[in-house]
Amino acid sequence: MDEAAPPDMLDRIRALISNHADGALEAHDLRTRHAGRRTFIEFHLVVPGTMNVAEAHDICDRIEEALKNEIEDSTITIHVEPEMKAKQTGVLVL
Ligand SMILES: [Zn+2]
Repeated sequence: MDEAAPPDMLDRIRALISNHADGALEAHDLRTRHAGRRTFIEFHLVVPGTMNVAEAHDICDRIEEALKNEIEDSTITIHVEPEMKAKQTGVLVL
């Protein structure tokens, strides 16, 4: 049965995102799901509206690599958003 990642793993995930997101502004809507041995990690990453795609993609690659190295059997989905979509709640400031 699917369930959210345990709290200690969530803390590690938040710290990893935070430590590898130089250039991004915030992350929000973090969702995790365990299915069998796999951990699915999904979140929104807010970047400056003027940032180009290549730069935003580099940040995603860095975060994905860090998460994959630390969280065994993880599948990561990052939704990049320009800064005008930034939220005021549930935010992980980077
Ligand atoms: Zn969002």
